[in-house]
Amino acid sequence: MADSNASIERPIEFIDLAAQQARLRPQIDAAIARVLDHGQYIMGPEIAAFETALADLTGAKHVISCASGTDALLIGMMALDLGPGDAVLCPGFTYTATPEAIALLGATPIFIDVDANDFNVDPARIAGGIALAKEKGLRPVGIIVVDLFGLPADYDAIRAAAGDLWIMADAAQSLGAHSPQGKVGTFGTITATSFFPAKPLGCYGDGGAILTDEAGLAAICRSIRLHGRSTIDKYDIERIGVNGRLDTLQAAILLEKLKVFEEEVELRQTVAARYNTAFADIAAVPPMPEGTTSVWAQYTLKVPAARRDAIQAALKAVGVPTAVYYPRPLHHQGAYRHYPFVGNGLPTSEALSAEVLSLPMHPYLSAEEQDYIIERVREALQNGDEPA
Ligand SMILES: *Cc1c(COP(=O)(O)O)cnc(C)c1O
Repeated sequence: MADSNASIERPIEFIDLAAQQARLRPQIDAAIARVLDHGQYIMGPEIAAFETALADLTGAKHVISCASGTDALLIGMMALDLGPGDAVLCPGFTYTATPEAIALLGATPIFIDVDANDFNVDPARIAGGIALAKEKGLRPVGIIVVDLFGLPADYDAIRAAAGDLWIMADAAQSLGAHSPQGKVGTFGTITATSFFPAKPLGCYGDGGAILTDEAGLAAICRSIRLHGRSTIDKYDIERIGVNGRLDTLQAAILLEKLKVFEEEVELRQTVAARYNTAFADIAAVPPMPEGTTSVWAQYTLKVPAARRDAIQAALKAVGVPTAVYYPRPLHHQGAYRHYPFVGNGLPTSEALSAEVLSLPMHPYLSAEEQDYIIERVREALQNGDEPA
């Protein structure tokens, strides 16, 4: 190992859920105990309380909690009446759950490229996606916009390019962020988010939520979440729905985590700002646009593709965990390869897949751990494939 004065006492975690749990354990134990005492495991009082708290946090008029971020996308697009013959634009560089519901509902995802700087949908690619859908004899009806790694996309530019398409905001990674255009949760026709444990606001299992300002869509989502049941007469099944409810226990846990969430987001910003300052001269660091906060679901550098494996191995050898999100763009995945994509490929999505490298990011990284990570990453970037 190159000489260094920074040292650490415990292994560095990529995302440290245990540190957060240690901080909140008594409150979470008490919240779980309250659910066990009242026994309303399905749609208990914590569900409505959590939905209200999330509406307060985001400014969204209606919040419908559900079983996962994937279900939020599915229920949202069922409410938008998506079906065969419809096409939905979707970035090629995102998590596999993003296009899943489009395909499950019999519609066609059309993959478009992202911006090389902020990794989000490139508004300049939208017109090409709409034209391609029409060329294939499909109706372009919507676009899924992903706030990748926690940074809100440029929704004003996307809305201008998307015309009358609806916008489904996939905010699985960006809940709690805002931009000069507003808060995450208010950008799309519908916003879908996730409480998977490793997301910035995570529960202890699967969970998700649908956010919208449109009362009509909210009522349909509530009905779909509960087997298509009428919200007025519980014996009237008015549409095909799903079992997509959030567990009361998860809502109880989320209510406790929400109390420290905004502070945690600030701690993440501090870590990201230190990383950006430390790496700006030797790697492509993520953008921090004026007036926009990211919640840093991931802190992701771009490094030379030919050296990424060696950098990752060198960091692993000195106890710095890293991850690659995402190693393969979706239009290259077996399940999605036959769907249309714009142009001769998605060159930016393809390049990013080979260049991205995410560093440890969570609110509980100590100053010493941050120093250690910064020194080791600088060495690895400078040494490249030489053994550390
Ligand atoms: C995590 C994630 C999802 C899916 O959320 P789940 O709760 O795991 O179903 C969807 N889209 C993106 C971009 C994600 O990161």
